[in-house]
Amino acid sequence: QAYVEAQDGLSVKEWMKKQGVPDRVTNEVFIAMSKALNFINPDELSMQCILIALNRFLQEKNGSKMAFLDGNPPERLCMPIVNHIESLGGEVRLNSRIKKIELNDDGTVKSFLLTDDNTIEGDAYVIATPVDILKLLLPEDWREISYFKKLEKLVGVPVINVHIWFDRKLKNTYDHLLFSRSPLLSVYADMSVTCKEYYNPNQSMLELVFAPAEEWIARSDSEIIDVTMKELAKLFPDEISADQSKAKVVKYHVVKTPRSVYKTVPNCEPCRPLQRSPIEGFYLAGDYTKQKYLASMEGAVLSGKLCAQSIVQDYELLCTLGQRKLTGARVH
Ligand SMILES: Cc1cc2nc3c(=O)[nH]c(=O)nc-3n(C[C@H](O)[C@H](O)[C@H](O)COP(=O)(O)OP(=O)(O)OC[C@H]3O[C@@H](n4cnc5c(N)ncnc54)[C@H](O)[C@@H]3O)c2cc1C
Repeated sequence: QAYVEAQDGLSVKEWMKKQGVPDRVTNEVFIAMSKALNFINPDELSMQCILIALNRFLQEKNGSKMAFLDGNPPERLCMPIVNHIESLGGEVRLNSRIKKIELNDDGTVKSFLLTDDNTIEGDAYVIATPVDILKLLLPEDWREISYFKKLEKLVGVPVINVHIWFDRKLKNTYDHLLFSRSPLLSVYADMSVTCKEYYNPNQSMLELVFAPAEEWIARSDSEIIDVTMKELAKLFPDEISADQSKAKVVKYHVVKTPRSVYKTVPNCEPCRPLQRSPIEGFYLAGDYTKQKYLASMEGAVLSGKLCAQSIVQDYELLCTLGQRKLTGARVH
């Protein structure tokens, strides 16, 4: 692990060069892997990211297992979480984002002000937004604290998701996630095969990650679809051509995320924050916080567990803070 962490200073390309690994290996294996892990190429990605992923694949029984949701994420991923929270007496409020973190005189959190102008007061405060949003929300008084200042180095990477419905079934797709080393495409899948809700025996629906997306994020949807079709024509020469003389596009959908997971360039690791912040009663969760599963859904879940663990460990401190607040309220 010490060796893995020490490689954070090198990009994948630099590490390969240092080890004397031929460029052919980077081109054939690590372009696809780098883009799948972080939507960037081996000349930008930190080698630590690749080594952490390989470690997980090799050390954990199901580390290399891939799975698809059987339906759309809001229904099949988010709703079960909402139901679980509500079954335990919790409340989930949608469309009411945090607008401002309001502070007490001692710099601890007084409340969260929401976009619907309600305020929320609590015993413990957790922010689980992406890191770029957190940076916008940070109160002025906290910005020079090293724990928060280091977040400046963590910046979301742009990525585009492309969904294309075809008029026919493509024969050369599989019931699996596919990895591409095309200069513009990353992982993709035929959702008509891999996902129960989109199952269709007669027509394919490709869902593709378009990356690196830096140069394309501001372009129009039709330009993105045109260039995607050109790349697909290379991957499926018998079935797809850029002018649609073979498989025809029935409809498409382009989803742009200008700031997605943090860009894992060299020397980011020391900037990832622990879930417990130096502000008493204030915690962070999210894939960018310190946890062993990189920027992924597993990483986000683990960060939530670590955050909950910190809150439980701080139970007595939080009780004291709560009492201080009550006493303060009585004095005023
Ligand atoms: C195109 C793409 C493909 C991916 N594919 C995979 C994959 O195959 N496997 C995998 O494991 N990971 C994948 N990831 C990464 C994965 O999506 C992230 O690692 C994961 O979603 C991070 O979870 P999170 O809870 O940290 O943040 P998010 O999922 O980004 O959740 C943050 C939440 O904060 C909310 N929010 C934002 N602003 C506010 C505010 N002001 N107040 C309150 N709430 C706010 C947002 O609405 C959002 O719900 C992919 C990411 C992208 C972009």
